[in-house]
Amino acid sequence: MSSGLVALEAQIGADLAKTAHPHAAWLAPRPGPDGKPALDVLVVGAGQSGLATAFGLMRSQVTNVLVLDKSEEGREGPWLTYARMHTLRSPKDFTGLDLDIPSLTYQSWHEASFGEDDWRNLDLIPRELWAEYLLWFRRVVGVAVRNGCEVIDISPAAGGLLAATVQTAAGIDIVFARKIVLATGQEGMGDWTIPEPLYHLPSSLCMHAAQPIDFTGLRGKQVAVIGAGASAFDNAATALEAGAAEVHLFCRRAEIQVIQPYRWLTFRGFLRHFCDLDDAWRWRFMRAILEMREGFPQATYDRCARHANFHLHDGAPVEAARAAGRGVELQTPRGVFPADFVICGTGIDMNFAGRPELQNCAANIAVWADRYQPPADERSPRLGRFPYLADDYALTERVAGATPWIADIHVFAIASTMSFGASGSSINAMTTAVPKLVHGLTRGLFRADIERHWSSFQAYDVPQAVVERQTPAVGGER
Ligand SMILES: Cc1cc2nc3c(=O)[nH]c(=O)nc-3n(C[C@H](O)[C@H](O)[C@H](O)COP(=O)(O)OP(=O)(O)OC[C@H]3O[C@@H](n4cnc5c(N)ncnc54)[C@H](O)[C@@H]3O)c2cc1C
Repeated sequence: MSSGLVALEAQIGADLAKTAHPHAAWLAPRPGPDGKPALDVLVVGAGQSGLATAFGLMRSQVTNVLVLDKSEEGREGPWLTYARMHTLRSPKDFTGLDLDIPSLTYQSWHEASFGEDDWRNLDLIPRELWAEYLLWFRRVVGVAVRNGCEVIDISPAAGGLLAATVQTAAGIDIVFARKIVLATGQEGMGDWTIPEPLYHLPSSLCMHAAQPIDFTGLRGKQVAVIGAGASAFDNAATALEAGAAEVHLFCRRAEIQVIQPYRWLTFRGFLRHFCDLDDAWRWRFMRAILEMREGFPQATYDRCARHANFHLHDGAPVEAARAAGRGVELQTPRGVFPADFVICGTGIDMNFAGRPELQNCAANIAVWADRYQPPADERSPRLGRFPYLADDYALTERVAGATPWIADIHVFAIASTMSFGASGSSINAMTTAVPKLVHGLTRGLFRADIERHWSSFQAYDVPQAVVERQTPAVGGER
């Protein structure tokens, strides 16, 4: 380890100690049905959201926390798996997991690792370095993570606990917890989508952008990319750089979207107070923002545009697709295009029933369409499928009383967005959204223990001072 990092880690230790107030432990172990103490909080997902949540809980003296991730260590989230950009799209000065502790920021880690000049000269953060920072962060703050652990079922257990069934290489384990946070990423409450006209195609002809595409196999091939967000462009660029003969990117809109709404909303007022708005305002804003989809940065576009064999078609939704010869024919209003392979960069959709961990409650999770009917010109069936979350990010019931235990399942992912605005799965919102989530979790844990706190207070008999009674003077004073 470089001397810069050694010094930084010492600084972090000091900073955390100086800001640890109040450090009194306030949670008592709750025995699970297996006789062992249940976790106070189980966090599912060790991406940046899960790590930041666990760190926020630790800062609130909720220390009986475990983070599980199905991936192997270092392979959590998109960064070293399916992200195909060279650098992060967000500006380098966005803070996040550090929760406003300067020594824990990406900048501090970068400067300690590569020097202050290197940071100054850096344009955007290389994604491999971001992944390295996440691993360093979790070690240096001491988040307890177990990799290779997939949560495949959540059900209610005795004593008001939740039981998570965990699949590991060694078999099945049951973990009991008072609360569960699902920090399971963009696809955590559904999956990546392949548009309906392409759905029937085999994976040898069509994949979505989060799948492990063999780009070397696209050399000399005609590639179609569906969608015009940043990931679609990243995949088009990767195919071009791998030597594809031609890459055609099909944009559904009449004109390509170049505004990035997430830049506009990155101010404290919106990030912090969006969730306090009524349903009509929350729907109006987030429908407008999420229907726009995320715009792509200039560098992302340039990475494609520098290739003469890159072709952008706007106003070209795919209306039909059929396997033809060794490839596909795509029918669009602009004509029929042949392709050897199709990549869909078309985002995610909610589908609770498709997630094993939600199988016991999927049908009873309230969604926005259950709770709010927008005016005709603001309708969106896709966004109506987002969960309608409580003010502590908890799932709410469609039919009250049928699955009351879901009030202890909290969602911190892209699925939180309709209820909270930018929040889970979003670097720009983390310093505001994680404290809000932690506040909701500690509120629930505190309220559930109120009888114990009352007894503890009544039994509290620690004197703060010793008062020595003076013996009155004989005869008194005159
Ligand atoms: C390609 C791409 C590029 C992006 N680039 C940027 C960017 O430049 N700037 C920016 O601000 N944002 C970016 N984002 C958005 C966001 O920052 C990322 O999606 C980020 O990874 C979200 O972090 P997360 O922790 O919420 O989810 P993830 O990083 O996806 O982590 C979720 C974790 O949950 C685990 N998991 C899921 N289900 C289970 C289960 N049942 N049991 C156990 N583990 C489970 C997964 O293995 C995964 O590791 C990007 C997103 C994508 C997809």
